[in-house]
Amino acid sequence: MSLYKQYPVSVHNTLSKQKELFKPLSEGKVGMYVCGPTVYSDVHLGNVRTFLSFDIVFRYLTFLGYKVRYVRNITDVGHLVGDADEGEDKIAKKARLDQLEPMEVVQKYTNGFHDVMQLFNILPPSIEPTATGHIVEQISFIQQIIENGYAYEVDGSVYFDVKKYNEDHPYGELSGRNVEEMISNTRELAGQEQKKNQLDFALWKKAKGGHLMKWPSPWGEGFPGWHLECSAMSTKYLGQDFDIHGGGMDLKFPHHEAEIAQNKGCSNHGGAKYWIHGNMLTVNGRKMAKSEGNGFTPEELLTGNHKLLERGYSAMTVRFFMLMSHYASTLDFSNEALQAAEKGYKRLMASVNLIDKLATPGTGNVDAKKSEEFKGFVEKALLDLSDDFNTAKAIASLFEVSSKINTYYQSPSELAQIDKSIFEYTVGVFKDIIHQVLGLKNEGDGGQDGELLDGVMNVLIELRKQAKFSKNYALSDKIRDDLKTVGVQIKDEKGGEMSYTID
Ligand SMILES: [Zn+2]
Repeated sequence: MSLYKQYPVSVHNTLSKQKELFKPLSEGKVGMYVCGPTVYSDVHLGNVRTFLSFDIVFRYLTFLGYKVRYVRNITDVGHLVGDADEGEDKIAKKARLDQLEPMEVVQKYTNGFHDVMQLFNILPPSIEPTATGHIVEQISFIQQIIENGYAYEVDGSVYFDVKKYNEDHPYGELSGRNVEEMISNTRELAGQEQKKNQLDFALWKKAKGGHLMKWPSPWGEGFPGWHLECSAMSTKYLGQDFDIHGGGMDLKFPHHEAEIAQNKGCSNHGGAKYWIHGNMLTVNGRKMAKSEGNGFTPEELLTGNHKLLERGYSAMTVRFFMLMSHYASTLDFSNEALQAAEKGYKRLMASVNLIDKLATPGTGNVDAKKSEEFKGFVEKALLDLSDDFNTAKAIASLFEVSSKINTYYQSPSELAQIDKSIFEYTVGVFKDIIHQVLGLKNEGDGGQDGELLDGVMNVLIELRKQAKFSKNYALSDKIRDDLKTVGVQIKDEKGGEMSYTID
């Protein structure tokens, strides 16, 4: 029997606003679309959390035996600086400021995005399509919407007719907004004169003089509106109906609302059956934002090079920290919380490493009840994960396994009472959840190689401390720099202590 039948998944569907039993459209297969980054600047930590949340969905559904096709796009055109279809394209603006080709900007930040994803062990999607690679699909999508009467052209630009659409389909069902209210609440904005209604959004924009990123279309040279690419690409790779659509909460309106409208306006199919939205990051209780001065980059978090951080934390500590709360809750960054996560992560990994050092189970009088109790903790962890991907609860269950392993290590007579096959099954699932589902890797302290490396690193760290003590900075810098060339980062911590991480 497939694991997904044994542990049926329930999902909090942000479209129905209810927790629902997850039933994919075709047995054993899942199609999932997640809005990817707009590649005009470095990835920020909020993005990391969003993509990590969907990494868990991808990993867990795969672990349960589903064949998952995961599509996550790269937005490389059409995302404008202004929210109301005005202003410069974000990528074109960056290209102008940095005197680069727009595609150089795209490549640079796409590479950077991939590096960060890899650092946090976030798996690549099955397909990673780009907006510029799907202009043809987007144009035919628009043509169909026009044909159905839900879009209109004005001087080379095409707009989605929200009011017309709302006569046939409710607009605002995802974000819980009402068209009449929205109309009475919107101000007249400059540059919006072409629109029949303020709520209308661009499907295609005419390229004005000097615009770098443009393509020929039935309406003249121009470029697609930002919302359109996700409709066109999810339809292309997952079909008019598919299972899951995900993204950060900030995308609910207008982006995801527009996507649903475009899909229905084109084919009368709404796209995803289940919508999942990840919550945001806060720092010491306040929203993380550049303007607040509390938004740090993944790099600053790893190096500790930020005024709000007492020191740096490893990528796996940060990953573990993020998984300690449910994806739909806000997550607050603080030094205390990160330090607690670091301890927890190390404790969990230490018990994984202890498994191979345990005596043989089941050599005494096997106690069926105790054996079942031990197995019960991993079963609970799987039920937790099936309950809307609740990593926070699952981790609590894993700590129960971890503390039992410590007990069995301290007292082999306890281990002797545990049925051997139940024991092996339980620790097998325990390790699978940690490595495959939660995606946590051992960082330098795992296994024999890890112990050897730890030993070698301690010798080098001692040498570097001595070099510093005797003010031989040339040597201490050389040790640090040479280690860096082989992928080992030495970090100086408070009180002269040093730690290391592996790239
Ligand atoms: Zn999108």
